[in-house]
Amino acid sequence: MVGASLAVALKDSGMSIAIIEAFAWKSQQQPSFDDRSIALSYGSKKILAAMSLWPEIASRCQAIKTIHVSDKGYLGVTRLRHDEENVEALGYVIENRIMGEVLQAQLQSMPHVDVLMPATVSEVNQSAETVTLTVDHDSGSYQLQASLLVAADGAMSRVREMVGIAHRKSDYQQSAVIANVSLEKNHDSVAYERFTESGPLAFLPMTMGADNKPRCSVVWTIKREDEASLMQLDDAAFLQQLQQRFGYRLGRLVKTGVRNIYPLALTEAEQLVKDRVVVIGNAAHGLHPVSGQGFNLALRDVALLAEKIQQHGVSNPARWLNDYAMLRQKDMKRVFRFTDTLVKLFSNNFMPLAHARAAGLMMVDCLPSLRHLLAKQSMGLVGKMSRLMRGVSL
Ligand SMILES: Cc1cc2nc3c(=O)[nH]c(=O)nc-3n(C[C@H](O)[C@H](O)[C@H](O)COP(=O)(O)OP(=O)(O)OC[C@H]3O[C@@H](n4cnc5c(N)ncnc54)[C@H](O)[C@@H]3O)c2cc1C
Repeated sequence: MVGASLAVALKDSGMSIAIIEAFAWKSQQQPSFDDRSIALSYGSKKILAAMSLWPEIASRCQAIKTIHVSDKGYLGVTRLRHDEENVEALGYVIENRIMGEVLQAQLQSMPHVDVLMPATVSEVNQSAETVTLTVDHDSGSYQLQASLLVAADGAMSRVREMVGIAHRKSDYQQSAVIANVSLEKNHDSVAYERFTESGPLAFLPMTMGADNKPRCSVVWTIKREDEASLMQLDDAAFLQQLQQRFGYRLGRLVKTGVRNIYPLALTEAEQLVKDRVVVIGNAAHGLHPVSGQGFNLALRDVALLAEKIQQHGVSNPARWLNDYAMLRQKDMKRVFRFTDTLVKLFSNNFMPLAHARAAGLMMVDCLPSLRHLLAKQSMGLVGKMSRLMRGVSL
């Protein structure tokens, strides 16, 4: 998702680009364009609009007008509203597969982009002038030379490892179960983030299902040890447990689609650049899905990297790569702190902390300035704004 987005952001650069991807677009094993949905922040919408992608996305995504935050078993609740922030929506929910279709259509219309798939990178060698990759695919191996290599190969990045960039990993001992659930009541464009003792539970509003029923994309964080028991339940028992956790704000939960599970960890590359290699997206930062920040952060990597490439070219990236890395580190650290604090603060049942949390949520609800700060972080409108983030095309 992130590598393809970067190539699309560079569509007017005239630069010769090769995308190397391990799975075919529609493969069931494709890890980016799977059954998940993504909550795009308002800031990401601006980036995608400046990349001329928004018209394709707008009719296929669901706006989030309100974010409702609550803590199961406690009174505190806060609501972030689009009208208070003077925006038409705080964010948008789109299915990953649809995002894949939009990106694929763009790439196919770009004559200077070669998409090599299914193919993998098995070796990387760098010299002062070039990066040489060994690419393996069905009909054998060949070598490819480039001025710049962007590793967008996910949290387990092989490229990051091959070029000797270390990474830190901290396991949350939690997993996220995702499923699309049909609802009795309309979601009215509200996204729910409910903190429970096992971790956060999100209901993201989706467009109507094929059966014309309202639906939500559910991201349910559970303790790692509960994985097997929850995944083994039949649909009715699963919905019953989910209903018990979430309550009846959306009426009865009527039907569930396929369930998938993701182990959750915080991963951080110790360097974002090394000679002629840049790591972006999950290869640079793997996050907990609480408050849906991962892809939004990655799109900000894409926005700044595309701007630097367009401005300075790739023949001598040493001139600008450190500046890029410094700016992106700041944003990354801020998002790490935000998500990690939320996970740790809200997955703790220590009584005084739970009461302080409830009081904190009530306080946020009463103080517009605090709500505004929280909304700005959720909308991805923080830090130094690149051109695309400001809605200006490259
Ligand atoms: C449950 C869950 C919910 C989420 N919800 C949100 C949300 O609401 N909002 C949000 O902003 N973010 C969300 N995220 C985060 C988001 O999914 C990720 O940030 C995003 O998928 C990262 O994309 P990526 O392209 O960097 O990595 P990946 O999606 O992992 O893609 C990596 C790609 O590299 C390919 N690849 C790997 N190795 C090689 C190789 N050696 N050679 C060639 N190709 C290779 C893979 O096949 C894959 O296509 C969520 C994450 C989870 C787990």
